[in-house]
Formats: sequence, C-alpha cells, structure tokens
Amino acid sequence: MDQAKILVIEDAPAIVRMLEPTLAAGGATTAIAWSGSQASEYLDNDDYDLILCDLGLPDVDGQDLIKQIRARTDIPIIVLSARGMEQERIRALDPGADDFVPKPFAAGELLARIRAALRRRPAAHGAASIRLGEIEVDLERRRVLIQGEEIRLSGREHALLTLLAQRRGGVVTHREIIDHVWGSGAKAETQSVRVLVAQLRQKLEEEPANPRILQTEPGIGYRLADV
Ligand code: CA
Repeated sequence: MDQAKILVIEDAPAIVRMLEPTLAAGGATTAIAWSGSQASEYLDNDDYDLILCDLGLPDVDGQDLIKQIRARTDIPIIVLSARGMEQERIRALDPGADDFVPKPFAAGELLARIRAALRRRPAAHGAASIRLGEIEVDLERRRVLIQGEEIRLSGREHALLTLLAQRRGGVVTHREIIDHVWGSGAKAETQSVRVLVAQLRQKLEEEPANPRILQTEPGIGYRLADV
C-alpha cells in the first residue's frame, strides 16, 4: 500500500488519532473528511485509491453515503463499524462497500484488509482468469482448475465462485449472492445459499468441514480467502 491515497470519512477525533499513524506507518497518505458533505467535496477535487468510512456521521446516513460514492466511483470502500453491528454492516455492504473492519480495530488487521482491497482492484476488471493459490478460475472459458485439473461445477456453483473470486478477500453478503446467483430480487433463502456454499466447499476444500478457502462471515455472508 505504498503511496496509496486513502480518504478517511470519520467524525470521531479519537478514531482519527488512531488511524492516522497506523495508515502512515503502512505507507499511505490520508485525507480526513469529518462529514459526508466534506467527503463529497474531497471526491470532487481529488482521486483516491481507497475509502475508509464510518457509518455514524453527523450529516448523512451511512448507507446513503455508500450509495452516493458507488454512483460516482468504483474505488474500494472499507467500512469501520462497531462490534455486534451486523445489520449495519449488511446495510453498507449490500449497496457496494467491499469490506468492513470492526472498531476498535487492530492495526495489523486494518492494514491487511486495506492491502487486500487494493490488490484485488485491477483483477475485478477485465481479467481473463483469477488465481487463488492452487485454484484457477478461468472466467473466459468458464472453467475451474485445481492444480491444473478441471473440476466440474454446476451453473450456480460456478456463479458463486466467480462472484467471490472477483471480490476475493472482501465480504459478499447473502443478498448479493442471491441476486447474483438466483437473479436480482429472487426469493431464495439464506438456507439455499448455505447449501450451495456447502456443495462448493466439497469440491474446493481439502477439509470441507474446516474450510480454509471459502470462509463464513457469521450473520453477514462469505469471503474467499485472499491466498
Ligand atoms: Ca461516527
């Protein structure tokens, strides 16, 4: 994340005081926006590589802010949210945030999430294949190879793996999976997602009961390990 320009949207001085040295130590330069309107102003006038965003801001609802930012740019957005706020996280991830970091945050975890988000950015656009350790997802030919051997996936398994691979390291919510795999607004249930994930784990994981690649984010969704 050397030289990455990060826009921090946060209204709590105590959090900003912790974030600034952490991000600087990771090699990033930061701009601090203390409100949603200040964030819009910064985005009008400058380019950033990543946004770190608090959801409890004085002038705008967090979900609305994420939607506004997504409407103008596809740069990675990581949400800072307090522990136990699963619903708040889902409300931010569904309209397009890439990931969340729990507050109070651990510096190592925060920097790891930022690096993962910065890394996957170019891969999401126009890549012909995505490599995850020994697994290769060939997007163009719609094939999946493990150590060079093709494995057979159903249409839904393939759709799920492709979605997770394009967002690897980041969280994908149950709703996003349902919209992508079953179709936008489909009435599929979280239980159907769970069944599909279990099927895919049988094919990808060495120990499906102890998954290393396709990880559960409890109450929210799934994430593909950034290997
Ligand atoms: Ca706040």
